[in-house]
Amino acid sequence: MASATTLRRSADRKVTNLPSPNGKTARIANSFGLPAGAAHSCPGATATCERVCYAGKLENLYKGLREVLVGNLEALTGLDRAGMAGLLSEMIDEFRVDCDGAERRGATVPRDFRIHWDGDFFSLAYAQAWADVVRAAPDIRFWVYTRSFNPERLDVLPVLKGLDNLTVYLSVDPDNLGAAKAARRRCPWVHWAYLAETFADGRADLADLPGKRYPCPENGRRIPLINEKGSACIRCGVCPSGRGDVVFSIAKR
Ligand code: SF4
Repeated sequence: MASATTLRRSADRKVTNLPSPNGKTARIANSFGLPAGAAHSCPGATATCERVCYAGKLENLYKGLREVLVGNLEALTGLDRAGMAGLLSEMIDEFRVDCDGAERRGATVPRDFRIHWDGDFFSLAYAQAWADVVRAAPDIRFWVYTRSFNPERLDVLPVLKGLDNLTVYLSVDPDNLGAAKAARRRCPWVHWAYLAETFADGRADLADLPGKRYPCPENGRRIPLINEKGSACIRCGVCPSGRGDVVFSIAKR
């Protein structure tokens, strides 16, 4: 039974695991959001991400969207790890019901869920709650980007370690590059999502780092946000699978 306060998922066209037949909207909401910014859920916010945060811009554009995100944060505030895990778990159960229903109607529905299309891990207990939920849902593949990896503020990486069905990307930009390098030395299992002014800048900034990296094809306008074949992220698959590091460009070129 759902509790009196529930969390609300978001139907993000870029990541949905089931598009509408005309390829324009998301049929299943497979992401979760919180209000962005250092004053809300992002203790690791940098000057660069505060400047360009696309999710924060959407919050300002759509009042209803903002209310959903604020409601989610208010529902979690004041709860302990178990209380937060309970709410998150109910939300994931509802996602599973949606997937089951679509499959019964003949759709192919990958069980992929993006934690935080907006916002971030705001406390250790909240990250622990998500780890509990991910561990209890081996049928679902989760992925997340986070700036909460600086031990001087908040480092959630130790509690997200060792979860086979979770891919963790550090959200990195020139402002937190040093902290990200240190985090990867501590936690070599994480990937990077690097935000540069241009793809060429990103390649240059990361040139001395080992490993494979991909320019995000949606950000570079090489694949659509969504079409009848699927959303950009499910079709691309790099981030949900954790295939390698990813580079994003503010200029989209
Ligand atoms: S690299 Fe692929 S999976 Fe990652 S954000 Fe871009 S389109 Fe989505």
